[in-house]
Amino acid sequence: MPTAGTTKKNAKAPRQKHVPQRTCVVCRETNAKRTLTRIVRTGETSFEVDPTGRANGRGAYLCSQLSCWQKAATTPILAKALRVTPDETSIQNLQEFAANLPQNDEAEAAAERS
Ligand SMILES: [Zn+2]
Repeated sequence: MPTAGTTKKNAKAPRQKHVPQRTCVVCRETNAKRTLTRIVRTGETSFEVDPTGRANGRGAYLCSQLSCWQKAATTPILAKALRVTPDETSIQNLQEFAANLPQNDEAEAAAERS
């Protein structure tokens, strides 16, 4: 048994994989970070989708539910979380991204429209 005094041991922390959890700003559901999409503030009146999750700036997360994206685009929830007054471009980007989400709801909504 080696008695290496140079290795620091943290007895409190159990050695398990830490999965970062994030909360959807709309439905407040907590989920693993990778299942949520980050929205990053890019200015006082703008934000953009940050698929890498690494962009600098104040961020908020949206889950994969289309309804949350629609609420983010049509209600002040996301804007409040990011403390922005979003311009039209930001909202449009959000809606475009939402339209490309792999969702069954979207297909149903499209079918209803036609
Ligand atoms: Zn959500």
